[in-house]
Amino acid sequence: MTIQSHIDVLRETIPPGVKLVAVSKFHPAGMIRQAYDTGLRIFGESRVQELVVKKDQLPGDIEWHFIGNLQRNKVKQIAPFISLIHSLDSERLLLEIEKQGAANNRVISCLLQIHIAEEESKAGFSPDECRRFLAEGKWRVWPHVRIAGVMGMATFTDDENQVRKEFRQLRLLFDEFKTVYFSDHPEFREISMGMTGDYPVAVEEGSTMIRIGTLIFGDR
Ligand SMILES: *Cc1c(COP(=O)(O)O)cnc(C)c1O
Repeated sequence: MTIQSHIDVLRETIPPGVKLVAVSKFHPAGMIRQAYDTGLRIFGESRVQELVVKKDQLPGDIEWHFIGNLQRNKVKQIAPFISLIHSLDSERLLLEIEKQGAANNRVISCLLQIHIAEEESKAGFSPDECRRFLAEGKWRVWPHVRIAGVMGMATFTDDENQVRKEFRQLRLLFDEFKTVYFSDHPEFREISMGMTGDYPVAVEEGSTMIRIGTLIFGDR
Protein backbone atom coordinates (compact mmCIF):
# COMPACT_ATOMS: atom_id res chain seq x y z
CA MET A 1 0.00 0.00 0.00
CA THR A 2 1.15 3.51 -0.75
CA ILE A 3 0.84 6.65 1.33
CA GLN A 4 -1.93 7.72 -1.04
CA SER A 5 -3.97 4.56 -0.46
CA HIS A 6 -3.51 4.77 3.31
CA ILE A 7 -4.80 8.32 3.27
CA ASP A 8 -7.74 7.35 1.06
CA VAL A 9 -8.75 4.65 3.54
CA LEU A 10 -8.53 7.11 6.42
CA ARG A 11 -10.56 9.73 4.61
CA GLU A 12 -13.34 7.20 4.06
CA THR A 13 -13.51 6.32 7.73
CA ILE A 14 -13.44 9.70 9.44
CA PRO A 15 -16.38 12.12 9.44
CA PRO A 16 -15.89 15.38 7.50
CA GLY A 17 -15.72 17.57 10.62
CA VAL A 18 -12.73 15.74 12.06
CA LYS A 19 -9.34 17.22 11.18
CA LEU A 20 -6.51 14.92 10.27
CA VAL A 21 -3.05 15.71 11.61
CA ALA A 22 -0.50 13.57 9.74
CA VAL A 23 2.18 12.73 12.31
CA SER A 24 5.40 12.73 10.31
CA LYS A 25 7.96 12.47 13.13
CA PHE A 26 11.03 10.40 12.21
CA HIS A 27 9.97 10.24 8.55
CA PRO A 28 11.92 12.08 5.86
CA ALA A 29 10.73 15.18 4.00
CA GLY A 30 10.21 13.10 0.84
CA MET A 31 7.48 11.07 2.49
CA ILE A 32 5.82 14.19 3.85
CA ARG A 33 5.87 15.56 0.31
CA GLN A 34 3.99 12.47 -0.92
CA ALA A 35 1.31 13.00 1.71
CA TYR A 36 1.20 16.71 0.87
CA ASP A 37 0.63 15.85 -2.79
CA THR A 38 -2.54 13.92 -1.86
CA GLY A 39 -3.89 17.15 -0.37
CA LEU A 40 -2.93 16.92 3.29
CA ARG A 41 -1.80 20.23 4.79
CA ILE A 42 -1.58 19.60 8.54
CA PHE A 43 1.52 17.80 9.80
CA GLY A 44 2.54 17.01 13.37
CA GLU A 45 6.09 16.76 14.69
CA SER A 46 7.35 16.01 18.18
CA ARG A 47 10.94 17.30 18.13
CA VAL A 48 11.89 20.91 17.60
CA GLN A 49 15.19 20.24 15.86
CA GLU A 50 13.65 17.81 13.40
CA LEU A 51 10.74 20.13 12.72
CA VAL A 52 12.81 23.20 11.90
CA VAL A 53 14.98 21.24 9.47
CA LYS A 54 12.04 19.65 7.63
CA LYS A 55 10.04 22.86 7.52
CA ASP A 56 12.67 24.47 5.31
CA GLN A 57 12.54 21.55 2.86
CA LEU A 58 8.77 21.64 2.36
CA PRO A 59 6.06 23.95 0.99
CA GLY A 60 5.24 27.09 2.96
CA ASP A 61 1.49 26.45 3.16
CA ILE A 62 1.89 23.48 5.50
CA GLU A 63 0.25 24.00 8.88
CA TRP A 64 2.77 22.61 11.39
CA HIS A 65 1.53 21.29 14.71
CA PHE A 66 3.77 20.51 17.64
CA ILE A 67 2.62 17.38 19.49
CA GLY A 68 5.51 16.36 21.78
CA ASN A 69 7.03 17.40 25.05
CA LEU A 70 8.13 21.00 24.56
CA GLN A 71 11.07 22.43 26.47
CA ARG A 72 10.80 26.10 27.26
CA ASN A 73 14.20 26.95 25.83
CA LYS A 74 13.09 25.62 22.42
CA VAL A 75 9.85 27.56 22.03
CA LYS A 76 11.79 30.38 20.40
CA GLN A 77 12.68 28.21 17.40
CA ILE A 78 9.10 27.31 16.49
CA ALA A 79 7.33 30.51 17.58
CA PRO A 80 7.68 32.27 14.20
CA PHE A 81 5.61 29.69 12.32
CA ILE A 82 3.91 27.04 14.51
CA SER A 83 0.13 26.77 13.94
CA LEU A 84 -0.86 24.80 17.02
CA ILE A 85 0.96 23.47 20.08
CA HIS A 86 -0.91 20.39 21.36
CA SER A 87 1.27 19.91 24.43
CA LEU A 88 0.73 22.87 26.74
CA ASP A 89 1.17 21.36 30.20
CA SER A 90 2.26 24.16 32.55
CA GLU A 91 1.88 27.84 33.25
CA ARG A 92 5.63 28.32 32.89
CA LEU A 93 5.48 26.95 29.37
CA LEU A 94 2.53 29.19 28.53
CA LEU A 95 4.43 32.21 29.80
CA GLU A 96 7.33 31.39 27.51
CA ILE A 97 4.97 30.92 24.55
CA GLU A 98 3.44 34.32 25.38
CA LYS A 99 6.89 35.89 25.42
CA GLN A 100 7.88 34.37 22.08
CA GLY A 101 4.48 35.15 20.57
CA ALA A 102 5.02 38.80 21.51
CA ALA A 103 8.54 38.78 20.07
CA ASN A 104 7.14 37.51 16.77
CA ASN A 105 4.05 39.68 16.86
CA ARG A 106 1.71 36.71 16.61
CA VAL A 107 -0.91 34.90 18.64
CA ILE A 108 0.04 31.26 19.19
CA SER A 109 -2.74 28.70 19.61
CA CYS A 110 -2.29 25.94 22.17
CA LEU A 111 -4.21 22.94 23.51
CA LEU A 112 -4.25 22.00 27.18
CA GLN A 113 -2.68 18.56 27.34
CA ILE A 114 -4.47 16.52 30.00
CA HIS A 115 -3.19 13.34 31.56
CA ILE A 116 -6.05 10.86 31.09
CA ALA A 117 -4.16 7.56 30.81
CA GLU A 118 -3.37 5.12 33.58
CA GLU A 119 0.30 5.12 32.64
CA GLU A 120 2.34 7.51 34.76
CA SER A 121 4.73 8.14 31.90
CA LYS A 122 2.31 10.17 29.82
CA ALA A 123 2.61 13.93 30.07
CA GLY A 124 0.06 16.62 30.76
CA PHE A 125 -1.83 18.46 33.48
CA SER A 126 -3.88 16.32 35.82
CA PRO A 127 -7.54 17.36 35.59
CA ASP A 128 -7.29 19.16 38.95
CA GLU A 129 -4.06 20.94 38.06
CA CYS A 130 -5.71 22.12 34.90
CA ARG A 131 -8.76 23.37 36.80
CA ARG A 132 -6.49 25.34 39.13
CA PHE A 133 -4.54 26.76 36.22
CA LEU A 134 -7.71 27.93 34.50
CA ALA A 135 -9.21 29.28 37.73
CA GLU A 136 -6.13 31.40 38.40
CA GLY A 137 -6.85 33.13 35.13
CA LYS A 138 -3.43 34.37 34.06
CA TRP A 139 -4.05 32.97 30.60
CA ARG A 140 -6.75 35.61 30.19
CA VAL A 141 -4.37 38.54 30.32
CA TRP A 142 -1.71 37.24 27.97
CA PRO A 143 -2.51 38.56 24.49
CA HIS A 144 -0.16 36.39 22.43
CA VAL A 145 -1.52 32.97 23.41
CA ARG A 146 -4.88 31.49 22.63
CA ILE A 147 -6.19 28.35 24.29
CA ALA A 148 -8.00 26.43 21.59
CA GLY A 149 -9.07 23.23 23.35
CA VAL A 150 -7.72 20.07 24.94
CA MET A 151 -5.52 17.15 23.97
CA GLY A 152 -5.02 13.74 25.52
CA MET A 153 -3.55 10.30 24.97
CA ALA A 154 -5.31 7.15 26.12
CA THR A 155 -3.61 4.20 27.78
CA PHE A 156 -1.81 1.93 25.32
CA THR A 157 -3.98 -1.16 25.68
CA ASP A 158 -6.26 -3.51 23.75
CA ASP A 159 -9.00 -2.90 26.29
CA GLU A 160 -11.40 -0.78 24.29
CA ASN A 161 -13.55 0.01 27.31
CA GLN A 162 -10.59 1.50 29.12
CA VAL A 163 -9.68 3.65 26.11
CA ARG A 164 -13.28 4.74 25.66
CA LYS A 165 -13.58 5.68 29.32
CA GLU A 166 -10.47 7.88 29.08
CA PHE A 167 -11.56 9.64 25.90
CA ARG A 168 -14.97 10.21 27.45
CA GLN A 169 -13.29 11.77 30.47
CA LEU A 170 -11.41 14.17 28.18
CA ARG A 171 -14.60 15.06 26.38
CA LEU A 172 -16.35 15.79 29.69
CA LEU A 173 -13.46 18.00 30.79
CA PHE A 174 -13.67 19.89 27.52
CA ASP A 175 -17.40 20.45 28.13
CA GLU A 176 -16.73 21.61 31.69
CA PHE A 177 -14.00 24.06 30.66
CA LYS A 178 -16.11 25.33 27.78
CA THR A 179 -19.01 26.06 30.11
CA VAL A 180 -17.02 27.54 32.97
CA TYR A 181 -14.25 29.48 31.20
CA PHE A 182 -14.69 29.58 27.46
CA SER A 183 -18.37 30.10 26.70
CA ASP A 184 -17.44 33.46 25.12
CA HIS A 185 -14.45 32.01 23.29
CA PRO A 186 -15.43 30.42 19.96
CA GLU A 187 -11.80 29.52 19.38
CA PHE A 188 -11.97 27.02 22.26
CA ARG A 189 -13.33 24.16 20.17
CA GLU A 190 -10.78 21.39 19.60
CA ILE A 191 -10.57 17.98 21.23
CA SER A 192 -7.36 16.42 19.96
CA MET A 193 -7.61 12.71 20.64
CA GLY A 194 -7.05 9.49 18.70
CA MET A 195 -3.98 7.90 17.15
CA THR A 196 -3.50 4.96 14.76
CA GLY A 197 -4.52 2.35 17.34
CA ASP A 198 -7.52 4.10 18.85
CA TYR A 199 -8.85 6.80 16.54
CA PRO A 200 -12.19 5.11 15.72
CA VAL A 201 -13.09 5.10 19.42
CA ALA A 202 -11.83 8.69 19.80
CA VAL A 203 -14.04 9.84 16.92
CA GLU A 204 -17.07 8.11 18.46
CA GLU A 205 -16.33 9.92 21.72
CA GLY A 206 -16.23 13.36 20.11
CA SER A 207 -12.71 13.95 18.81
CA THR A 208 -12.37 16.95 16.49
CA MET A 209 -8.75 16.29 15.57
CA ILE A 210 -6.96 12.95 15.21
CA ARG A 211 -3.18 12.55 15.12
CA ILE A 212 -2.20 9.70 12.82
CA GLY A 213 1.36 8.56 12.10
CA THR A 214 1.79 4.82 11.57
CA LEU A 215 -1.38 4.30 9.53
CA ILE A 216 -0.22 6.87 6.97
CA PHE A 217 3.55 6.49 6.90
CA GLY A 218 4.13 2.97 8.23
CA ASP A 219 6.34 2.00 11.14
CA ARG A 220 8.86 4.46 12.50
C1 LIG B 1 3.62 9.70 17.68
C2 LIG B 1 2.40 10.35 18.17
C3 LIG B 1 1.16 10.16 17.50
C4 LIG B 1 0.97 9.24 16.31
O1 LIG B 1 1.00 7.91 16.72
P1 LIG B 1 0.62 6.71 15.72
O2 LIG B 1 0.30 5.59 16.65
O3 LIG B 1 1.84 6.45 14.90
O4 LIG B 1 -0.53 7.12 14.90
C5 LIG B 1 0.07 10.88 17.96
N1 LIG B 1 0.16 11.71 19.02
C6 LIG B 1 1.32 11.90 19.68
C7 LIG B 1 1.33 12.83 20.83
C8 LIG B 1 2.46 11.22 19.28
O5 LIG B 1 3.60 11.42 19.96
